[in-house]
Amino acid sequence: MEIIFLGTGGGRWITLTQKIKTGGFRIHSSKKIHIDPGPGAIVSLSEAEISSIDTDVLIITHCHPDHYNDGEILIEAMTYGMTKNRGVLACSESVLLGKDGIGPGISRYHQSKAQEIVVLKPGVGFNIDGIKVETFTTRHSDPAAVGLKIFTPEGVVTYTSDTEYFDGIADLYAGSNIIIFNVIRPQNDRIPYHYCTDDVIRVLREVRPGPNLAIMQHFGMKMLGKEVYEARRVEEETGIRTISARDGMVVDVNEGISIGKVGDKIIRDVKQKRLEV
Ligand SMILES: [Zn+2]
Repeated sequence: MEIIFLGTGGGRWITLTQKIKTGGFRIHSSKKIHIDPGPGAIVSLSEAEISSIDTDVLIITHCHPDHYNDGEILIEAMTYGMTKNRGVLACSESVLLGKDGIGPGISRYHQSKAQEIVVLKPGVGFNIDGIKVETFTTRHSDPAAVGLKIFTPEGVVTYTSDTEYFDGIADLYAGSNIIIFNVIRPQNDRIPYHYCTDDVIRVLREVRPGPNLAIMQHFGMKMLGKEVYEARRVEEETGIRTISARDGMVVDVNEGISIGKVGDKIIRDVKQKRLEV
């Protein structure tokens, strides 16, 4: 399995300035899954020489533009330019139907071209080709936002999505090999509905059993230039290996975990497969 971070930025000001990218990330296992394609996802795929068409599952955890913006374009890719009913479209209720005055974020026309639609709610997930996706609750300004626990043949990846800390949240992350945290601000610079670094420390101290690796991403403006230091601090405080993601970073999870970047061996594999199609 490879986890490919196309864009590691989040929040309004990073999205508007594009100081770092906002295209979300992908999991390449037995299926190709794109998660939270914010603005620029399609551009970042092109730059990474990953075929947008080679997408089997599109997951959008909530209806904020830094998560859903390029969703319709990804559906156009996944359906071979809207010529086939193809792929799984799994999104929060707010993204697909609209909820609490938010959304929908994907047109009915685009929804109609997915082969399968899943309205993600806490406890409602799906299975596809040996991959199981479970969902859990968050506390975010889109109340329909969900977090993800993705069981692949190579390991369990948990994605917090956007949330603030609440009692019991660590239990939701238990038993993961990798946890991907959306951390908008450094230190204890806490704003509602989001994690800051000190929240990540608190959660990681509580998760039993803890992960092999924690990855921080979805950085806001105040995190820029501090990500590496903040990840090191989390690792020192918790004893859990922790890294900050960078745009274009690839985490290769097979026998062990290795870190690379798009353009390395992993992308050559993708190119190879594309040629075989
Ligand atoms: Zn959000």
